[in-house]
Amino acid sequence: MTPASRTARPQRTTRLLGAAAAVAVALVAACSPAETAGVAETAGNAGASPSATPKPSVPQGPPGVRPRKGEVRPIARTGPLPPVISSIPTKRKVVFLTIDDGWEQDPGFVKQVRDQRIPITAFAMRDAVEAKGTPDESGGPARYVGAGKWGYFRQLRDAGVPVENHTLTHPNLPLLGHDAQKREICGAAQLVKKELGARPALFRPPFGNYNTDTLKAAKSCGVTSVLLWTATVQPGGKIAYQVPDKKLHPGDILLLHFRPNLARDFRILVGKIKRRGYELGNLQAYLDAATPR
Ligand SMILES: [Zn+2]
Repeated sequence: MTPASRTARPQRTTRLLGAAAAVAVALVAACSPAETAGVAETAGNAGASPSATPKPSVPQGPPGVRPRKGEVRPIARTGPLPPVISSIPTKRKVVFLTIDDGWEQDPGFVKQVRDQRIPITAFAMRDAVEAKGTPDESGGPARYVGAGKWGYFRQLRDAGVPVENHTLTHPNLPLLGHDAQKREICGAAQLVKKELGARPALFRPPFGNYNTDTLKAAKSCGVTSVLLWTATVQPGGKIAYQVPDKKLHPGDILLLHFRPNLARDFRILVGKIKRRGYELGNLQAYLDAATPR
């Protein structure tokens, strides 16, 4: 939603931000229109758990690889507030796909996700899903295809996609007081619950910007983790890295947006990820391992 040229977060060592460090991290990459993605050949073994029992022909359960025992390093909690997570602490070549906003609702993308069992996590923002206001056009002309209702996200949900919280109106949260932030976060949580039946446990702050009030508000709205990202994906499936070496790293969380031609771009992106020897992970399963209760 903003033009934003994505800038990068320079150091991988800072990729896991504890709640204590939560003072307005401004990741400019956020939601820029640009990232759509396109699709790639097949998700390959995305749906196959390596430790699963041998019945490859009829995949069951949520898509994406799941962590092996002891694979994920638990994220240290610094207090009662939800942890802020930019990547998953693992050495396995696995990355995670997340998609934000909801301005464009490419029907081919749902089929692709369902048929190829591609693990994604969606962060829905009310004004985008309901086509209120002006879409971000920095990634090319927006057409509002299908936008204006939640049916598309119900289809995604039915295809196994967790639909999480990305506020009502996409504000720059640190500019708001605690109560206003809470209205944005709890309002979106209630709306997603009403429309899709499940209250989101994950929250992604618009533009990646947050402060301590954001974490307090998120906690009171039922959020268990705040999710950032380590790289964005632009139209054509091009990956914009936020690390100096311009490579994928184990545990990376990639950010895309619901943009025109999402299915095409996604096809390209997934093919690229596989060629680099990475698998697609089930984010929730990895978060469960990284943030034990
Ligand atoms: Zn956004």
